[in-house]
Amino acid sequence: MTLLEVRGLDAGYGDFQALFGIDVNVAEGETLAMIGANGAGKTTFLRVLAGQVPAWAGSIMFDGTDIAHVKAHRRVGLGIALVPEGRMLFGSLTVRENLIIGAHAGRAGRWNLDTVLDVFPLIRPLLDRPSHVLSGGEQQSVAIGRALMSNPRLILLDEVSLGLAPVVVKSLYEALPALSEGGATVLLVEQDIGQALEVASRLVCLLEGRVSLEGKPDGVARSDITAAYFGLPAGSGSEASS
Ligand code: ATP
Repeated sequence: MTLLEVRGLDAGYGDFQALFGIDVNVAEGETLAMIGANGAGKTTFLRVLAGQVPAWAGSIMFDGTDIAHVKAHRRVGLGIALVPEGRMLFGSLTVRENLIIGAHAGRAGRWNLDTVLDVFPLIRPLLDRPSHVLSGGEQQSVAIGRALMSNPRLILLDEVSLGLAPVVVKSLYEALPALSEGGATVLLVEQDIGQALEVASRLVCLLEGRVSLEGKPDGVARSDITAAYFGLPAGSGSEASS
C-alpha cells in the first residue's frame, strides 16, 4: 500500500525556489533513502512533509488524504514525525523530559519510554541528565527516540550521521530495523551514498531541487547514482564512496 504520494511538489523560501515538481511515492513499511549533495533540497523536502515549510504547489497524499495544507502539529497527530537535522533537543530539559514531549500527540502504539529505551539502551542511564551534556550520538538517539514516542506511521530522518564518528553512525543505523519492525515507514535523508545503499529498500536522488534518479539499490549502477548525485551525464559517474 502507498502510504505517501507526493505529486508535482514545488516549495522554497521567499523568492527562492528549492523544490521543482517533486514526485515521490513511499510504500508502507519500506525504508526510502533520499540522497543528494549539499543544497539539493533534501531537508526542504522533509520540512515540507512535516509542515514546517509550506508547499507552493502540488499534493502530498498521506494515507489517501491531501495534507499539503494541514498544520504541522496536526501532521504529528496523523503519524508523521520528523527527526530534524541538528537534533533540536531542549538542552536544559532532561533526556526523560525530551522523550516524553514526543508523546504529546497521544497516538497509541507500541512505542513508549520502555520500548524506546530497549532500542537505545545506552540512554537509559542518562534519563535524568540535561540533554545538552550528552554526546552527539547520544543526542541523536534521544532525537530518534522522541520521534518514536509519537508512534509515527512515517518517520522522517534528516542526516542522522551528521557530525558523528563512523562507529556511532553504525550503531544508530543498526537501530533502524527496529523502527521498521515496529511498523514505521522510514524516509531518511543521507549525504553518504554508501550508508544509504546499505539500509534502503529504495533510493531517490535529488539534484538542484529535482529528482534525478530513483530505483532499488541493487537495480541501479553505482556509476549512475554518482552521476545523478553530482549532475554528470548518465553513465559517466565514477565510483565514489560518498
Ligand atoms: P544539506 O545537506 O546542506 O542540508 P539539502 O539537500 O538538505 O542540503 P536544503 O537544506 O533543503 O538542501 O537546501 C536547499 C536550498 O534551499 C539551498 O539552496 C539552501 O541554500 C536553500 N535554503 C535552505 N533553507 C533556507 C532558508 N531557511 N532560507 C532560504 N534558503 C534556504
